[in-house]
Amino acid sequence: MSVRLWRFNGGVHPPQHKAESTTEALRAARLPKRLILPLHQHIGEAAEPVVNIGDTVLKGQLIARAKGYVSAAVHAPSSGTVSDIGDYPVPHPSGMSASCIVIQTDGEDRWGERPDYGDYTQIDPSHLRNMIRDAGIVGLGGAGFPSFIKLNPGSRKHIDTLILNGVECEPYITCDDMLMRERPREIIAGIRIMQHALHARECLIAVEDNKPAAYRIMCEAIAKEAGIRVALCPTIYPQGSEKQLIKVLTGKESPSNGLPIDIGVVLHNVGTAYAVHRAIQHGEPLISRTVTVTGGAVAQPRNVDVLFGTPVIDLLDECGADLGQADRLLMGGPMMGFALHSMNVPVIKTTNCVLATTPAQTPAPRDALPCIRCGACMDACPVHLLPQQLYWHAHAKEFDKTQTYNLFDCIECGCCAYVCPSQIPLVQYYRYAKAEIWAQERDKEKADLARKRHDFRQERIEREKAERAARLHKKKTETVTADKTEAKPSAGDEPKAAILAAIERAKAKREAAATAAESSEEKPGQPPDGGT
Ligand code: SF4
Ligand code: SF4
Repeated sequence: MSVRLWRFNGGVHPPQHKAESTTEALRAARLPKRLILPLHQHIGEAAEPVVNIGDTVLKGQLIARAKGYVSAAVHAPSSGTVSDIGDYPVPHPSGMSASCIVIQTDGEDRWGERPDYGDYTQIDPSHLRNMIRDAGIVGLGGAGFPSFIKLNPGSRKHIDTLILNGVECEPYITCDDMLMRERPREIIAGIRIMQHALHARECLIAVEDNKPAAYRIMCEAIAKEAGIRVALCPTIYPQGSEKQLIKVLTGKESPSNGLPIDIGVVLHNVGTAYAVHRAIQHGEPLISRTVTVTGGAVAQPRNVDVLFGTPVIDLLDECGADLGQADRLLMGGPMMGFALHSMNVPVIKTTNCVLATTPAQTPAPRDALPCIRCGACMDACPVHLLPQQLYWHAHAKEFDKTQTYNLFDCIECGCCAYVCPSQIPLVQYYRYAKAEIWAQERDKEKADLARKRHDFRQERIEREKAERAARLHKKKTETVTADKTEAKPSAGDEPKAAILAAIERAKAKREAAATAAESSEEKPGQPPDGGT
C-alpha cells in the first residue's frame, strides 16, 4: 500500500554528487595500528573509563561506562593494549581536544565474550532497552542521541508510527543508501526489535527518489512483512531532518518545545536499526559504522565499515585521497558538516562522511554583500523562521531579540545561506549567537551558584553565632540558680569564720583568768602568784 505524503515549508535542491561513491560494494576498512576513542561521542555526559594504561583489551570489551542517564558506553573496537588515556584532537567545529582512550591494536582482532540474548520477543521491553544502552548505541544519522531513550514509549502504552529514516538528503553522503542496498534483512530485523521495545503499531521506511536501487531492495525485503511500508519521497533538502520528515510522512507538526513521541511518532536512522540488530541478535556492541569517503580529491570514493577510533588520515589514504588537490576537508556533508582542523582526528559514532573537495567543486565564496531584504531566505527556511531578522539581531549582538525570533528552533540546515544572493554566511551568525547565549547562561548559572554559596555561608556563620550565645546564656543561668538553691558558703567566708572563732576563744580565756584572780584575793597568807 502506498504512503500518503505531505510537504514541509521551504527546502532547496543542491547538486547531489551521490553517484560517485555508490559504484563499489561496502567493504571493511583496514585495521589501523592505533585507535583513538573519545569518551564523548554522543549527546549527553561523557563516558567514564573502566580500563587503565597497560591493560589488554578484547574486541567488544567495555572500556568506558555510561555516566548518568543521557550517556553512552564505549567499547574496544579491536583487541590490543591501552597505551594512553588523555587529551587528543577530536572531531569538533572548534578543533578542540578532549579525553580519549588510545588502543594499540595487536592485529589479531580477537573478540571478547559476546552475550547470547536468545529470543528477544520473550524479553521485557525495559530489559531490551537496557541491553541497547549497554551496547553503547546512539543515533547514527548524525545526532548521536542515546537510542535506548528514544526507544522508550514513556507513559504511552504504544506509539503509532516508527519512522526509519533512509532519506539521506545531504549531498555526497551515501552510507545509508549502501546499507539499505546491501543489508536490508538486517535493517528489518532491527526494526522488529525496535517495534517490540516501543509497542509500535506500524513502521514507515522513508527513502528519497534519488535512491531507486535502495527503494526497490527495501520494497522486496518487506514484501512479506506485516506492518512495515516503504515511502518514496521526492528528493529535497533537508527532508531527512526529524521534524520535516515527520511532517512529510504523517502530516503532523512536532511540537516546538516537545518531542515527536508527544504526537505518537518516533524516528530512528536505518543505521541505528542495523546496530540494534547486531547488538541484540549477535551480542555485538556498537564499535563500527558505515562511512562515506568521497569528494573530488578522493581517487576511489566509496563506503566503508570503519572501526571507531580510526584516524581520518588512514581512511583517506585507503581511498586514495590526494590532499594536495583538496581545498576543504569536512566531516559530514557540505550543508551541515564542519571543517576538520586535523587529519589525525578519529572516526566516531556520529561520523557519516569524510569529504575532501577540490576548488572546482566548492568555488571560493565571494565576500558577503549587504542584505537586500529580498526574502529568499525566509522562503527557503523549513522551520518558518525569519532568517534575515535573526541575522540582523545576531550581527548587532541583540541576543535577546534573536530568541524572540526563535533562534533555537533553527536546525542549522543552511538553506537560507544557500539561497542568499548576498552570500551572507547566515548559519555562522546563528551559531555565534547560540554560543554567546549559552555562554551568558553558563556565566549566570555560575554567578547564581556563587551567590547561593555566599548566602549559605553567611547563614551558617549567623547560626553558629546564635548557638554560641545561647550556650553561654544557658551556662550563666544554671550557675545563679545553683547558688540560690544550695546556699553554700563561699570560699571567702571560711577565713571570716576562723577569725570569729579565735576572738571567741580569746574572750573565754580572759574571762577564765579574771575569775581565778578574784578567788585568790579572798584567801589570806597565800602569795597571789603561788611564790615562796
Ligand atoms: S536572502 Fe540574504 S539578502 Fe535576501 S533577505 Fe535573506 S539575508 Fe537578506
Ligand atoms: S539554517 Fe536555520 S534559519 Fe536558516 S533555513 Fe535552516 S532553519 Fe531556517
